[in-house]
This record gives sequence, C-alpha cells and structure tokens, in this order.
Amino acid sequence: LFVTGYFFRGMEINEIMLASIAALVSVIPEGLPAVLSIVLAIGSHHMARRNAIIREFTSVETLGSVTTIITDKTGTLTQNMLTVKKVALPDGREWEVSGEGWSPVGSFFRGGEVVEPGDDPALVRLLQVAGNSNDASIRHDLDTGTYTLVGDPTEGALLVLARKGGLPVARQMEGHRLDDLPFSSHAKFRASLFQTPSGEKEILVSGAPEKILALSGRMDADGGRDDLSSEDRKRMESLINEWSGRAMRVIGLAWKRVAADHEEIEESDVRHLVFAGIIGMIDPPRPEVREAVMKCRDAGIRVIMATGDHLQTAMAIARETGIVGEVSPDVAPALTEAQLGVLDEREFGEAVRSTHVFARLTPAMKLRICETLQDQGELVAMTGDGVNDAPALKKADVGVAMGVMGTDVAREASRVVLADDNFSTIVNAVEEGRIVFANARQTSYFLLSTNFSEITILISLVAMGYPIALTATQILWLNLVTDGLGDKALAAERGHGRVLLEKPLTKKDQILNKEVMPFLLGLTILMTGLALGVYFHFLPAGIDKARTAVFSTMAFSQLWNLLNMRSMKQSVFAIGIFSNPWVVMAFVISAVVQVLIIEVPLFVSLFGFFPLSGPEFLAMFALSSTVLWAGEAWKLFGRWVRREARS
Ligand code: ADP
Ligand code: MG
Repeated sequence: LFVTGYFFRGMEINEIMLASIAALVSVIPEGLPAVLSIVLAIGSHHMARRNAIIREFTSVETLGSVTTIITDKTGTLTQNMLTVKKVALPDGREWEVSGEGWSPVGSFFRGGEVVEPGDDPALVRLLQVAGNSNDASIRHDLDTGTYTLVGDPTEGALLVLARKGGLPVARQMEGHRLDDLPFSSHAKFRASLFQTPSGEKEILVSGAPEKILALSGRMDADGGRDDLSSEDRKRMESLINEWSGRAMRVIGLAWKRVAADHEEIEESDVRHLVFAGIIGMIDPPRPEVREAVMKCRDAGIRVIMATGDHLQTAMAIARETGIVGEVSPDVAPALTEAQLGVLDEREFGEAVRSTHVFARLTPAMKLRICETLQDQGELVAMTGDGVNDAPALKKADVGVAMGVMGTDVAREASRVVLADDNFSTIVNAVEEGRIVFANARQTSYFLLSTNFSEITILISLVAMGYPIALTATQILWLNLVTDGLGDKALAAERGHGRVLLEKPLTKKDQILNKEVMPFLLGLTILMTGLALGVYFHFLPAGIDKARTAVFSTMAFSQLWNLLNMRSMKQSVFAIGIFSNPWVVMAFVISAVVQVLIIEVPLFVSLFGFFPLSGPEFLAMFALSSTVLWAGEAWKLFGRWVRREARS
C-alpha cells in the first residue's frame, strides 16, 4: 500500500504512512491467538460438562483428530457392577448363585434346589479364599438400605459371594492377615498371607484362572488332597472357556499352607498351590456403549479392545457392544498376548491393522500395540487405569485415564481423565474436539476473508489513482468492530450434530486447503467489489460520503460473512439462524454501533464521516447481504457436487 501510494501515485507521505500502518494493524489477525485460546477453553469447558476432564489444553484439539481408540473392557465398556453367578469345584460340581449388585443377599442353587453351602467343606474352603484374598469392603447405608463398594469391583464381587455363602463375618480371619500382595495385571493374581485361629499359616490366592491352574499342583477332594490330574485340569479348562464364552469374568482360587516362620509373601511363594475352584461373574456392558461404538464407525474411528481378561469373555463383550460383528471371516477377530508374542515384526503390524480385540494382555504389550499403530500413521487415544499403564498412556497421542477406578499414577500420565470411566464419554470428547477444530478453522477463515478484503480495497483504489478508500482512524475502527465481537462469537459455535459423520482429519490436513481457498478468494473478491461499487457510486457526492459508504458496506459485509462462517458446509438456515446466540448478539450490537457512529455528531467529526440517510443505510445493508447469498449458493453447490460424487 505504501509503495504504491507513495512512489507510484505520489501521495502525501503523512496520509499514506498513517493509512499503511492502520492497514497493517488491521490486516494482521492479531486477535487470532486469543480467539484460538478461547476456542480451546470453550471446548474443554464443554468436555468437562460431559465428564471428560482435560489436563492438557492442546489435547482438546488432538482429540478431534483421533483415528483409533484403544479401550479397556472392564468398567469402561462394562458397568463394573460385577456379580458372581457360578461357582465350580475342581471335581466338577457346580453351583448357581442368585442376587444382584453389592447386596450380600442371595442363595446357592444346585440342580435347581437351594442348598446350604456351609455343608460342603470344599465349597467353604473356596468361599474362604474368595472372601479373604481380598481388599475390598462393602458399606451398608442403613438409612437408604443401599450397599456401596469400596475397592476393586472384582474383589467386591468375591466378597459378596463369601457373604452370601454365609461366612459369618466375611473376613473370618481378619486381624490375622500378615501380608498382602495386591493384584497386578502383570502377574494376573493377588495373594494374602493369613494366620488361622489355630496358628497355622496359609497363603490364599485369586486371579486369572489359567494362571492359578498353572500354579496349582493339587486339589481338595473329599476331605483329603489329591494330585490335580490332567483330566481335572481339562475339565476346569473347558468350564473356563464355556463361561468366558458367555461373557463371564472367571476367577481361579487356590491356597496353600506355609511354614510357621513365614512373615511375608513374595510372588515366588505363589506356586505349588492347592486348587480350590473357579467362580464366574457377569459384568453387563454399559447400555450406551453400543451407540457410541456405532458413532465411532460413522466417524471413521477404529475401536480396539485391549483387555487383560480372557479371550472368550473379551469376544463376548465385543460382540454385545458392536466392536466386532461384521468382521469378515478372513480377519482374525481376536488375539491373545501369547499369540502376538510369536509373530514377527511384519505379521505383528498386520495383526494390529486388522484385529479389533486383544485379550490376556499385559501393559507392556498394550504399549507395543499403541506404538505400532502410531507407526502406521494412526492418531491413538488409549485408556488405562493401573500404574503399569502409565508408559502407554504417556506414549499415546491422547492418554485417557479412569477418574473413578484409576490410580493417581495413571491420571498423572494422561491428558484426559474420565469422570465416569465410560467409553461413551471418550466419543463425546472426540465430538467436542472436532467441534473445536472446526471452530478454529472457521474463525480463521472469517478473519482471513474480512482482513483480506480490507487490504485489497485499499490497495486497488490507491493503485487506480483514487483517494484512499478509508482514513487511518476508519480502518482501525472497522477492524475493532468486526474482529472485536464476531470472531469470538464464532468460537462458541456448537457443531450441528454432523461432526461425527465425517472421516477424521489427518496430520497432513492444513487449515487452508484446496476446498476452501476458492470460497475464501471468492468472498474476498465479492466484498472488495461491493465496496468499490459503493465508492464510485458516492464519489460524485464527495470523498467523505464515499468513504462513509465504503466503511458501512465493509462493516455490514463482514457481519453477513459471520453467518457464512458458522458452518463450512451447511446452510445457516438449516443450522438455525438463532442457534448461536453469541453470533446473533455480535451481529446486532455491531450493526447498531455501526449506525450510531455515523449518526452521532461527536463521532462524525472525529472520524470524518458524512451522515447517511436511513434509506441509504438500508440499501447498503441489503446490498452487502449478497455476501451471505453468495456463501449459501457456494454451499448449495458443494452439497450438490458431493451428492453427485456419491451416486
Ligand atoms: P481386565 O481388568 O481388563 O480384565 P486385568 O489384567 O486387570 O484385565 O485382569 C486380568 C484377569 O485377572 C481378569 O480376567 C481376572 O480373571 C483376574 N483379576 C482381575 N482383577 C482381579 C482381582 N482384583 N483379584 C483377582 N483376580 C483378578
Ligand atoms: Mg483390571
């Protein structure tokens, strides 16, 4: 502007200098960093309201571009309201157990008849292990009559089972517990060291049933102890498979007597156990998860279940929640860590690309799966709760920790914490993330197109040898009115229910792309053209009047453009003109201020305006609305092109 005006047109240095500086100020979208922060802040506020707490600001945006979600099963996809339904002893005898939730009321059934578990020493033994290799407790609220769990739900279910079995005080041997080895998903068992009332010491163990079976050498039978024959093992294994296939979480229980000088347990003590039996508990899927999984499918996001649980249980839940279903037969539907372990690098990559369920995983394998997906170009969100999950949570693009069941370590390592541990919350957060991304784009587009048209009108008139279109003060004021409210109002746009119907953005996607450039250029040209037309129309009535008219046309065009930028694809009439009240407010306030500034005498002299008549205002308001109609036509055209492309 300065070069054209000063060197080529010989304008007076004062005038062109001031105008150039003002143009510089207005063309640089200095509000952009602030608006983008506002967009992120609004996004994280909405996420928090939907139970996803953001620990790192920028993850709001990252969430929007997630292409793969690796999720836990227990508690995230399921309700974590575990209830033991079945009990079986190593000799093959089975019981059904009734009752719901954490209430210790329920009975044992065998062949349809209620039985008294206390009559069977082997069953009592199993219940003792269940109730004592345990760190959970159940609180009974006497006022409301409700039972609540404190501790791990798996252990809670075992405790409730022991109480239903009539163990007088669930933890019969409480007070004599000498040491405890908490559950770790690496070892896949937990153990407690107890001193019985008669002074003997015992280790009680519970954990993943195959693991417990592998650590056991004997079983309780008819009062004596026999070797666990291969037939007994087979019987247990087939029962474990059968129950797991019915979506049950199966726990194996075992114990052993130890020498009187034993004071602590170490992992290496847990072997040569006496197998006590298995129990099966149900954990129904959360009802809302299925819909969330379907949303992910529409949104082009892959959902992968990674669980420490049994393969069959994992598959059963995966089917119920829709994670697997339409899997083609040649795709491996589920793999365990043992199966993954024997694959070479290339096969592993293939497996990770095509498999949706990973079972019996340790946290280290979760980390490897996550890294492999990232190498394949995926943007991974990953859930976790345990201390061991921390490395994977850190490594994932968005680590998601469980707020209720998770450990502090997991939360520290994550960028997002779920207040309700619910899978659907992740999907909601992704939706919000996409809204944030769209808003960041749209505010940028708004600022770019309005600022560009300001500078082109200034330069083109100077280049053509006409007096500059706006004075320095007018330029600055225009910048203030239009960038001041409008862009912030756009930051509050709410997404219009379609953000989860599109494929995720890739890392390569830029803010300015081929699709939107013609739109922005067209708008810039249109706004410049309108202002030029108005300028020449009013120039015979004096430069002051022409400038005032250009000033109003520019301001009004930018307000109409605000409506364009509320959605890049949908018509503003489809998404509702009033659905973003902030935009309505920004529009009305800016329009009123615009009229006032030209009509109030004080401002008129300050800015060098020439008051316009009512009809003139209306004419310019109507004329500049072309910007909206052109935008609508462009979007209509875009929708038509996409429809043609689809059919
Ligand atoms: P997930 O929670 O995804 O099922 P984990 O690694 O936590 O994976 O658990 C693996 C297996 O260990 C479970 O399938 C269950 O058999 C057993 N298990 C889990 N938690 C406990 C616990 N607190 N006490 C005893 N056994 C457990
Ligand atoms: Mg677990």
